[in-house]
Amino acid sequence: MPLFPGSPAAEGVQSSLFFETPEEIYARVFRELKPRTALPELRVEFCRFANADSFIRLEGGRLHVRISDLLAGAPAPVTEALAYILLGKLYRKPVARVYGHRYRLYLNRRDVRRQVHLVRQVRGRKFISGPQGEFRNLERTFERLNQQFFDGLLGRPQLGWSRRPSRGLLGHFDPSHNAIIISRLFDQERIPELALEYVMFHEMLHLRFPVDHNGARRRVHTPEFREAEKKFPRLKEVKELLRRI
Ligand SMILES: [Zn+2]
Repeated sequence: MPLFPGSPAAEGVQSSLFFETPEEIYARVFRELKPRTALPELRVEFCRFANADSFIRLEGGRLHVRISDLLAGAPAPVTEALAYILLGKLYRKPVARVYGHRYRLYLNRRDVRRQVHLVRQVRGRKFISGPQGEFRNLERTFERLNQQFFDGLLGRPQLGWSRRPSRGLLGHFDPSHNAIIISRLFDQERIPELALEYVMFHEMLHLRFPVDHNGARRRVHTPEFREAEKKFPRLKEVKELLRRI
């Protein structure tokens, strides 16, 4: 006697993967995670997001799943993995680690990464303030460090200040827009320039040492990166400084 008469799951998960629609996959995963709850009305939609993000929402008894169209052509097991991740998160149900692994493995595939990168470039508009702040100029900082640590050989990306003086994100390198963005926190006289230099140096190392992709793993700070970072003078002092600001 099949558990759910008439459903593809009744035939066994493996075979069902070949002909399930995304809605059917989400319905099957829902029944597995919430066996006692009636299946809500369910809609799965592929959207033109600027990245590979996906969202799930329960509204008025309806489940609405919005998935990046970058994943529209993904193999069914990947859609299934994402269904476990999203529904698990929504209902706070523990989900086997194999699903997270499978999903990351797919996103880390070279062709998928290239596609995500292109879509970000084309769709993701990015506001970049330009290097001149109120007190400090990022171009000057960049070029000084470029001479000091990279023989002046690092190509200068776009440079900008964040909109808000963020304490959580001090700086980041965005490869899709080839831009280094520094927290506006450092555009103040009271903040020692050494702190800004360190944050900029760190982001410049991201330019120099690309992210290492290996299977489902993604290593941003590689051993080479860490080694190079130690070349920054007064490293201990600056880390202490950053803790205080
Ligand atoms: Zn970093």
